[in-house]
Order: sequence, then structure tokens, then C-alpha cells
Amino acid sequence: MNVHDSEKIAGIFAESGYDHAENASDADVIVLNTCSIRQKAEQKVYSDLGRLKGIKKKNPDVKIAVAGCIAQQRGNVLFKRFPYVDFVFGPSNIEDLQKWVKNTPASRFVPNLRGQISALQDNPNFHTKPLPLKREGQVRAWVSIMYGCDNFCAYCVVPYTRGRERSRQSSDVYNEVKALAVQGFKEITLLGQNVNSYGKNLNEKIDFPDLLKAIHEVSGIERIRFVTSHPRDLSRKLIEMMRDLPEVCKHIHLPVQAGSDRILHLMNRGYTYNEYRGKIDMLRNAIPDIAVTTDIITGFPGETDKDFQCTINALSEIEFDGIFAFKYSERPDTKALSLDGHIDEKTKSGRLSHVLDLQASITYKKNKTLEGETLEILVEGLSENDTDKLTGRTGTNKIVNFKGEMGNYKGRLVNVKILEAKRHSLNGEMAHR
Ligand code: SAH
Ligand code: SF4
Repeated sequence: MNVHDSEKIAGIFAESGYDHAENASDADVIVLNTCSIRQKAEQKVYSDLGRLKGIKKKNPDVKIAVAGCIAQQRGNVLFKRFPYVDFVFGPSNIEDLQKWVKNTPASRFVPNLRGQISALQDNPNFHTKPLPLKREGQVRAWVSIMYGCDNFCAYCVVPYTRGRERSRQSSDVYNEVKALAVQGFKEITLLGQNVNSYGKNLNEKIDFPDLLKAIHEVSGIERIRFVTSHPRDLSRKLIEMMRDLPEVCKHIHLPVQAGSDRILHLMNRGYTYNEYRGKIDMLRNAIPDIAVTTDIITGFPGETDKDFQCTINALSEIEFDGIFAFKYSERPDTKALSLDGHIDEKTKSGRLSHVLDLQASITYKKNKTLEGETLEILVEGLSENDTDKLTGRTGTNKIVNFKGEMGNYKGRLVNVKILEAKRHSLNGEMAHR
């Protein structure tokens, strides 16, 4: 989501004639687009800002901005701690940035506002008009379908930094996807904190499965993905739509967070483990080869060894294709701060390692079963680690590296025979039909 916001920020500058500088020391304007989901991300921003002090000293004309969720959350405090910061703006102020930058050449760019931080709690029209975008790739593109979140999971800062949930009009989303198809993009990923509640605040009567169906009509787009689904709101209608629409990838990211009902309740997730399990069964019954990935938090306040064992049992029982796992991190304003039983760092880290080790063996075992199979890959370009090879993904979102000719295949769907499973990717060779 943040990377996509950076594409919007870069697009606004590009529209007014700015180029991307190779080094911070060559830049006229430096924007740090920040994430505050965990403390580690926040600390990184502060050390990056520390480094920028030297650049400002050498070149006092350079403008330094802090954007994103840290800007939203810390606001004017940033000016006190880093007085050489020129302006800050929150994720909901990207449209304002367009007003400030529009037609202002770099030499004349003086941000007219010190601090512009707003999560636009109640502006339903926010972000409905299209912003210029400087997209990073040429094959896959992100499309925001909604902003903010109303779920208030006890550990999570997003509802405070990104504001209330609001959906974009389906026609705006549809038009953006159509334009992407015309530009040659082949895969789109629909973005929202909780895509399953898409449409709730709109005047039109539409839900997420309806939106998927409408987008599926756009010709030229070969693959459609979406993140993130909230397990509580995952409906049978969506599962059936995933099953029936061939271009919708057979992969779902469905964050479980924990295996213990007591912890899930404290987290305010709105489901029990058995309910979650039931959704996985429903998905696998409808779409047997579906890949399921998840997020896990270790060491949430009050998590006992017994609770943690429930998470381990869940991983063993469900056998996800992949996971993202994090140590619980205290975030400002969140409910979890006031819960009893905060866990020490060592225990949180030990539990995290346990989870990652277990999952590594499960992922490897699952990847192994693909050896010898021929899978359809959307080619993204040259492999980063071996430029003799091409890289792409399966519909189930597994990375595959294989030999082939770059020019001919980028952006195309090709069949690849899987020769070797690795822990984080697969190796193969182009299969001839
Ligand atoms: N809206 C999505 C994802 C939000 S953030 C969802 O509901 O799933 C991505 C992941 O970061 C979350 O799924 C969660 O596992 C993790 N996360 C969020 N806040 C965290 C915190 N305070 N500490 C540790 N992990 C956190
Ligand atoms: Fe955060 Fe929960 Fe909203 Fe996801 S659903 S963004 S974890 S509050």
C-alpha cells in the first residue's frame, strides 16, 4: 500500500516536470514516505531523517518532506525533533500535494504549508478523482479500491493513521483498470485494508465480488489479485466468484494472526479459530489447488505458552503456502497498549523464530510437491539473482526463475516445467506445448 502511495507521490512530481534523482544529494525535493505499522519501521525513518541533516547542511535549498503514516501520527512533533524538515503530510493529503506542486518548477518549489496532516475522517469524496501515477513496473500494477479501516484490531495503528474506511466508486476503479490494460499491464492487484467490505459506504449497490466480476470484463488484463481479505468478512459469494472467474488468481492472503480464541478475542479480530478454519475448508473445497497465505503476530499481550501453542497447532494443521510473521510491536493510540501481560522481547523473538522455522519446512514441503509439474507463469523480467534467467509468478503467487529470452516474453503467460523447489522460489525451464 505504501509503495503504491509512493507511486502517487512520484506521479505528482513527474506531472510537474520533476525527474527522479539518483542520489539524495542531487535532489531538489526529498520525500520520505513512511510506514508506522511496527516500531522498527518508525525507527528507520528517524535514522534516515538523521542522515538527511547533513544533506540539508550542504544544500540549504533542498526541501525535505515526511509523508505517510509516521507524518500522520507524529505530525508537528517531527518539526521539533528534526527542525530541517520543511513539510509533513499524511496519507490522505496526497491530493493536497498535487495542489502545492502543480506547475511549480523545482527551483521555485516552496511548500506553502508547514504540516498538513489529515486522515479526512468524513470526506467520502476523498481520492475519488484519479491522481497521476508513476508506476514501478510494466507488467503488474496496483489499484486502490478503498482507503482506511474501521476494524480497530487492538494492536493496529492503521485506523488512526489512514482514517475511516471509504470505498472508491466502482466506475473509477473500472476506468483505472481499463486504462492500465490499454497501457499494456497484464496483472492488477486490488488494494484495500479489508477488501471484503468494499462498497459499504457507497450510494451504488455493489460488493467486492460484484466489483471483481465487473473488472473481469476488462480485456487485456490476464490476472487479477487482491489484498487483504479479513477472515470475518470472507463470504461464500466471493469464494464462488474466485472459483468461477478464470482470471482471478487462485491465491488468497487471509491473515489469521493467532491460533488461540482468547488472543483472537483480545485482538478484536471478530472470529474464532474454528470459524477461520471453516473458511479455509470452504476455500479448499471450492478451489482445491488454491494457495493460502497468512500473517502471524507472536507475543501479543497476555499470550501464554498455551496460547502460543495454539498458533503452532494452527500452522501445522492448515499448512499455509507462506506466512508473514511479526513480533507484537506497541503502537500509539491502540487498545493493546492498556492490556495486561506485555511479553518480554526475548520471548517474543523466541516465538517468532519457532513460527518461522516451522513454516520454512512447510513451505519447502509444499514447493517440493510442484517438482515435475508444468505451471503457467506471467513473466515479469530478468531474475534479480541470475540475469541469465527470467522470473515470474504462478497464479498461486510462487516465484519461478527459468531460462528464456527476455525481449520476447516479458508480460506474457508461458508454461514452465518446475525442476527444483527452493525455500523461497522454484527453478524451472520453459515447457514447449
Ligand atoms: N489490513 C490487513 C493488514 C494490515 S497490516 C489485515 O487486516 O490483515 C499487515 C500485518 O501487520 C497485519 O496483518 C499484522 O499481522 C501485522 N501488524 C499490524 N500491527 C502490528 C503490530 N502492532 N505489531 C506486530 N504486527 C502488526
Ligand atoms: Fe489493522 Fe485490523 Fe484494519 Fe487490518 S483490519 S488494517 S489489522 S485494524
